[in-house]
Amino acid sequence: MGFPARRLRRLRKGESFRALVRENTVSPNNFVLPLFAVPGSNIRRELASLPGNYQLSIDCLVEEALTARDLGIRAVLLFGVPETKDDKASGAYDPRGIVQGAIRALKSHVADVLVITDVCACEYTTNGHCGIIRDGYLDNDASLELITRITVSHAEAGCDMVAPACMLDGQIHAMRQALDSAGFESLPIMAYSAKFASSLYGPFFKEATQSTVSFGDKRTHQMDFSNSDEAMREIALDIEEGADIIMVKPALFYLDVVYRAKQEFKMPLAVYDVSGEYAMIDAAAHLGRLDRDAIMMEALTCMRRAGADIIITYFAKRAAELLHTREMAAFTHRGHEALKEYLAVK
Ligand SMILES: [Zn+2]
Repeated sequence: MGFPARRLRRLRKGESFRALVRENTVSPNNFVLPLFAVPGSNIRRELASLPGNYQLSIDCLVEEALTARDLGIRAVLLFGVPETKDDKASGAYDPRGIVQGAIRALKSHVADVLVITDVCACEYTTNGHCGIIRDGYLDNDASLELITRITVSHAEAGCDMVAPACMLDGQIHAMRQALDSAGFESLPIMAYSAKFASSLYGPFFKEATQSTVSFGDKRTHQMDFSNSDEAMREIALDIEEGADIIMVKPALFYLDVVYRAKQEFKMPLAVYDVSGEYAMIDAAAHLGRLDRDAIMMEALTCMRRAGADIIITYFAKRAAELLHTREMAAFTHRGHEALKEYLAVK
């Protein structure tokens, strides 16, 4: 039975119909806000390439987490920008290190926000690489030792979950073992399982963490962006090794990988909507080519449609703000008008 009996437009007639049959929605519950901790106090340095996001000293970072919590965001992903770097990344596992201090402050002042820590060495090495370099090559097994040390130091500082970012072979297994033998068998691991060697990380390294590789690149450990079967193999291995949550990074250009991962593994799945994705949308909006809020909500919803449960995004605060306004607007039956009014005053 086709046209004219079948008319799919019947259920698109107004927002009430559309809302009734909407298949995917996005909520602040889905968001993780990345935060960058820097030494000092009273520092709130806005990132020009990621407006609305900041390098924050620990006191200001606590305030930022409180703001996020008030918007309904339940988790932050913590990065550290240390005062000094060395070739062993010793700042990364220092109990008095920047991230360890930030974890303790967050857990004592904003206990109900989950603190997830990024586990990698590249913000702490002078050469900007993700682990131990031997003969110009990232030494996998020597780096595993470093990564497990960082992991346990984050757990000891009190984080709620660790997120290994460096795409080493066997890293989830090594971290799980190290956590278990240190008494942290209940601490979950969110694995950057399929992390691609992407040019979309530019603003993150250039501005947010000031970490640039002094030689070579990261293509010997991060994935070739041409591959998706290989991404499934990476994810399968991480699950086997004990990952609790899997991740695809970046998000927007990789939604086919996200879709495959969800279909194949039915695991809690995170995407990292990376700095370059944010910067592209923001820049286009500045030029007047795109509507910033509209394209942001479309992008985030499409990540959910592809299969993402968790979205790590620099848009978290703005999107949560908008979602609350939309809810309010629906509640007061003023609908679209209220939303437009709100956007006009913003
Ligand atoms: Zn790294």
